Parts: sequence; C-alpha cells; structure tokens
Amino acid sequence: MLFTTNWLAKQFPSNQGKVQDNIAIKQVTTDSRTKDEGLLFVPIVGENFDGHDFVQQAIENGASAIIWDESKQLPDGILPDFPVYFVKDTLRALQDLSSAYRAEVNPIVIGVTGSNGKTTTKDLISAVVKTTYRTHATKGNFNNHIGLPLTILSMDRNTEVLIVEMGMSNFHEIDLLTRIARPDVAIITNIGESHIEFLGSREGIAKAKLEIIHGLDESGVLIIDGDEPLLREKNINQKLISCGFDEKNDYTISQVKIHTLETEFTLSDGMSYQVPLLGKHHAKNASFALALGKLLNIPTEKSKQALRNLELTGMRFELLKGINDVSIINDAYNASATSMKAAIEVVKQMSGFQQKVLVLGDILELGDRAREFHESVAEVIEAPITVLFTYGNHAKWIQTALQTKSHTLVCTHFASKEDLVQALAPYLTKHSLLLFKASRGLKFEEMIEAITTNS
Ligand code: ATP
Ligand code: MG
Repeated sequence: MLFTTNWLAKQFPSNQGKVQDNIAIKQVTTDSRTKDEGLLFVPIVGENFDGHDFVQQAIENGASAIIWDESKQLPDGILPDFPVYFVKDTLRALQDLSSAYRAEVNPIVIGVTGSNGKTTTKDLISAVVKTTYRTHATKGNFNNHIGLPLTILSMDRNTEVLIVEMGMSNFHEIDLLTRIARPDVAIITNIGESHIEFLGSREGIAKAKLEIIHGLDESGVLIIDGDEPLLREKNINQKLISCGFDEKNDYTISQVKIHTLETEFTLSDGMSYQVPLLGKHHAKNASFALALGKLLNIPTEKSKQALRNLELTGMRFELLKGINDVSIINDAYNASATSMKAAIEVVKQMSGFQQKVLVLGDILELGDRAREFHESVAEVIEAPITVLFTYGNHAKWIQTALQTKSHTLVCTHFASKEDLVQALAPYLTKHSLLLFKASRGLKFEEMIEAITTNS
C-alpha cells in the first residue's frame, strides 16, 4: 500500500469532495487501461487526449479513487460515495502528491540527468545500490514531468534509495523535476548537443542541466563529468565530485580496454572493473556508479561484482550475431552527434575484424545546426573503418562530407533501407563488424532484423 484515501484528503485540504473511508491505494496511474485493485486514477490533459474522458474505463478497471479537474463536469454514474478529489490542475496535483510522498518516505534520492547516458547510468547505479539498500528506480525511460512523479509514487514505503532519471528538452524542465524529487545526490553524465535547437548553445545545455542543483540542499552532492569544462568550472555551494579521463578528476579512469563483450578500465582507487557495455563512455558511466557507491559506503567488491553482472537493456550498443556469423552492434535506440562519435570510436578500437562497416542514419532534433553536427561525425570516420553507408536526408551530409575527404573508404548513400540491406550482402561474413546507429525515429532495427532473422 502507498497510502490511504484519508492521506489523500489531507493533501487536498480545501477539497470539496465527499467524506472518504480509509481506502488503501496501491498504485497511481494516468492510464485508464491499467487494471488493478486500489488504483488512484489521475486524468491528464494531453495534446491528443483528455484523460477525463476515460474515467469510466478507469473505474471499471479498478480505480478506487480519482483526481478530477474542478472545472469539468463529472460524468453521470459515479456513485456519491466514490472518492473524488477536485483540483485546479490534475498534472500539478500529481506532481504535488509525488513530492509529498517523497518527503514522507524520505529515502536517499539520486537524480540523474545529462545529454547522453542517463538511462545507462541509472541502470549501473541501480545495480550497485541494490547490493546494499532497498532500492527503487525509474523504469525504462520514465523521465519527464509525468514519468518522474509516477516513479516516485510507485516506490514502496520502506525504500531506502530512490534513483530517478530526469530528462529535458528545454530550460526550466529540470528545475521542476528536481524540486519534486529533491535529490541528495545529483549526477550530470555529460553535456552533448541534444535539443540545441531550443537551448541555443552547449553553454545553454549546461545551464539547463545544472538546474538540477535547485533541488539540492547545502548538504547535497553533485557528481559530474569532470572532463567537461562547462561543468568542472562551475562554482557551487554543494560538494562536487568529478569523474573522467582527465587526471585532475577526483576519480580518474585509465587503461580502458574494449573487449568483445565488455569494457575494462582502471579507476584511481587502483582497482580494475568490467562492465558488459562497449565503449569508453561506459567506463565513465560506470565511474559515476562507483563514486556513488563509495559515497553510500557500499563495499567496493560488491560494486565491482554488480557492474560485472549487469543486465543489458535492448538496443543500446548491443552486440549480436547475424547471417554468416557477422558481428552487429545494435545502437539503434537513439543518437546524438556525441554518442554517434563515441560509438564510432569504439568500433575503431575493436580488434579482430577485416571490415568495419558503419550504417548511420539521421540524428533528429538538431534544428538549424543539423548540418554542422552531421558533418562533425564525418571527422572521426577514418581507418580502420572501411565502409560508410547512410540512410536519411540528414545522414547524407555525413556521406558527402566524407566523400570529399577520403578516397579509400567505400562511401554510399541510399534512398531506401531495402537497397542498403542488399548492399550489405558482401560484408555479411564473420570477419566484419557492422554498426547501426541513428535516432529512434529512423527505425534502424528493421535493417538489423533483415540481416539476422535468416541466420
Ligand atoms: P534519453 O535522452 O533517450 O533518455 P539517455 O540519456 O537515457 O537517453 P542512454 O539511453 O543511456 O541515454 O544512452 C543513449 C545513447 O548514448 C547510447 O547510444 C549510448 O551509446 C550513448 N552514451 C551513453 N553514455 C554516454 C556518454 N557518457 N557519453 C556519450 N554517449 C553516451
Ligand atoms: Mg533515457
């Protein structure tokens, strides 16, 4: 049980609703299709739908109480003694409820933001913290103004550590999330260029991420990507812990080795660690989890084992075997120029292949700087990469930029995914490594399916 309807009544003291019995609420949902007992249904007004229109369905599916916009008419058929809480704004009510519940449960809260690597870092942290504390964390990518409150409202009362991912595309969004979650430890994984169309510059992006400090009190701790000057050179009142490859960091990563199934590195504590994720950037993500583990007094050996045994989430730099035993890296989950370059660097470093083929697609949401960022990807494409295939109007800029620079690479743009898949045929051998990377909207997993299903 999360709370009772009596507790809810206390949260809305001016509420004109009916007298409430002590009904147990086990789950809060904004989705009328959720089926369970003891649901609190919170209708949200979205771009396409208004949750209030689905209240009957929510009640049929087990809602025991509802929140309701006081300016809207309650439909007929809702019994007079059914608990309804009238509010001015249902979204605000959801957010307020979550912050009241967070304050009452009072776990140690870890907030994770950054342009890339939030979900990965959250998963790494969660694995480490779980070894020692009762832990609750954001499921999947539930990281926005609705997902974060729902994450808080799904933690058990006995939760000791709560880990929340905080996403954003504009200023003031992290500010809102951090004031709800009130993290004790905030983590900024990196500053990339995602959403630059709204934020103007990398400085703007850093400023927007740093809003996370607004929810931290004086005793809070900020863990940052210490290789990023926009973060490192920031003066803050709270304790700062920096992680990265630069020797000036509190935790310095060195001796990174990328093996077939894991990345190995040494931390400045003198220990060597492994994570089953491929790429230098994942060593950094792991270092955040290790720094946090030390802060929470988790024995190092436990953290080390937890990282090593991490369960992978699909489509994030996943290594697969396809037709004729070809090695495929599926990184089709999403892309930014930073993460695309990071992935290409990893492919360059992986040993044991004669052909290294990049299949790259559009990086979306870059606004009028799209061309510049796509062209910047071309700069890191060089030997031992042997082939570049692109698909998508923006990805074409990578191909054209490279064509003028390099004559040794096979470098082709395709207008259809089918043609691209056909052109891959000569490279489907066990001596080749193929990287697929693009923004989610490009659905690159379709091409991966085409070259794996027949194997
Ligand atoms: P979203 O904004 O979609 O929630 P996210 O910040 O949660 O993204 P992840 O899902 O963890 O990020 O990873 C997304 C991509 O970023 C992956 O392709 C991964 O390879 C890359 N990536 C992960 N960590 C880093 C990092 N520290 N620096 C650069 N790229 C990274
Ligand atoms: Mg994420």
